[in-house]
Amino acid sequence: MSLKEDYARYMNKRAEMAKDRLGSLWLNQEERYVHPFRIFGNVWYVGDSWVCVHLIDTGDGLLLIDSGNCGATAMLIQAIWEAGFNPADVRWIIHSHGHLDHIGGAVFFKRMFGTQLLLGEPDARMFRERPWISGIQDSHNDADALFEPDVEIHEGDVLTFGNTTMEFHMVPGHTDGCIAIFFDARNGDEVRRCGYYGGFGFNTLQKEYLLEIGDPEYKTRQVYLDSLASVRDQKVEVFLGNHCINNDTLGRRQQQIAHPEGPNPFIDDKAWAAYLDKKRDELLAFMQDPKNN
Ligand SMILES: [Zn+2]
Repeated sequence: MSLKEDYARYMNKRAEMAKDRLGSLWLNQEERYVHPFRIFGNVWYVGDSWVCVHLIDTGDGLLLIDSGNCGATAMLIQAIWEAGFNPADVRWIIHSHGHLDHIGGAVFFKRMFGTQLLLGEPDARMFRERPWISGIQDSHNDADALFEPDVEIHEGDVLTFGNTTMEFHMVPGHTDGCIAIFFDARNGDEVRRCGYYGGFGFNTLQKEYLLEIGDPEYKTRQVYLDSLASVRDQKVEVFLGNHCINNDTLGRRQQQIAHPEGPNPFIDDKAWAAYLDKKRDELLAFMQDPKNN
């Protein structure tokens, strides 16, 4: 192929991407940049306006929950600097699940800074045995890659990172390896329980998808409901989103900006249970709908 033909092929590929229904997720990601901010105490927001990334200053290194969308790693690095931290101090990244919009920075951080990567055991197995389920093939950057995690997370694990101890529960449904995390955040003497649920999307509960992954009875939908129920009654005072839409991250941020001396809008002991109940009700309605069966 000549250089000219090669260039035409590249331009066609970009034009196709722009036309694609999901094309906007990959092009012009800088438009989704969010200036980082403190959620509460040692927990910061360093994600974009679509996919959440949380930074926890453990007093002995930084921990990230998720590493952003594929193609958004430069934005993540910028957000960490802008928040007043050094990206080289990120010692751990805990991944909510193994989809390409949550693992974008993983390999970069590992190679650049020696960051330890953590992932739920079922999604680590998925990377080895059925990597196409990660969606990495949609990253539009051939340099993006899956990884072998340093630590695989299991149901009931309790792990300590610096001054922060985290309790993990498996909440399969969106993927087999979604994890929920519970931990205390500190602001001086004030301690608040944070809760995180690693994946709510129904995209992986659609009929065609379940048939393709070998679940013709759609059992995954019940698994999802059981997962919601299993952690619904956990004490959560600060609900951290997986995507911004889960906890209205940006709306709460706007309140924070509008009322800097007011109550912290992220401290809300009703939000967790309310959102999990909302997803339960939405899924029950989805399951009732004949077009999904
Ligand atoms: Zn996902």
